[in-house]
Amino acid sequence: MDYKQDFAKEVYEKVDSGAEIKVCMQCGVCASTCPLREHMKYSPRKIWTLIRAGRRQEVLTSPDIMLCTSCYTCKVRCPRGIPVIDVMHGLASYALSQGITPREETAKFGSVFWAGIYGTGRVDEAIVPIQYCLKDGLVAGLKKSLGMMDIGLSLMKAKRLKPKMFIPPNIAIPPSHKIKGIKELQRMLDKAKALGARKEG
Ligand code: SF4
Ligand code: SF4
Repeated sequence: MDYKQDFAKEVYEKVDSGAEIKVCMQCGVCASTCPLREHMKYSPRKIWTLIRAGRRQEVLTSPDIMLCTSCYTCKVRCPRGIPVIDVMHGLASYALSQGITPREETAKFGSVFWAGIYGTGRVDEAIVPIQYCLKDGLVAGLKKSLGMMDIGLSLMKAKRLKPKMFIPPNIAIPPSHKIKGIKELQRMLDKAKALGARKEG
């Protein structure tokens, strides 16, 4: 087992909102209310325990730190007011800054999402899922999109997805039009990235 004695200190100092977990009383509310708990090996509560125990490798390689969907349930319910969601995202970002990718699929989706935001200032619901599926190439992308067909149909039924999302993936995808002030947005994002890198470095 890989231990790093001062890993907790590293998290408190370098991970976004990492110091907030100091006041955790291990009540388990976050673990019991997280809708993804059945898919997690380590709930947020357990992740904090591993941090305190110095289990750096186990924490930073855990796919669970990249599984959080930002539903905010834990943040709202934590009796100590710990921003659990921010710490989970902070840990994921910190792992990436250390050259570790805890969960490939989330990282792939994140890179497509980020490219859309940075390039146009928008998240285009017609483009992001297609580009995500095509990340592994055309054949794998088609297989992946077919595997997600029932989710797409459910979303369409609930009017959360427009039919234009089913553009065949071999058709050239036009870029979304850019928002006004895209340059200013990019400057802000660059600045935020540089500040984050300085903290994590
Ligand atoms: S709900 Fe808050 S105090 Fe309770 S285990 Fe989770 S982070 Fe700790
Ligand atoms: S914000 Fe993330 S960690 Fe918290 S309950 Fe939702 S999915 Fe779970």
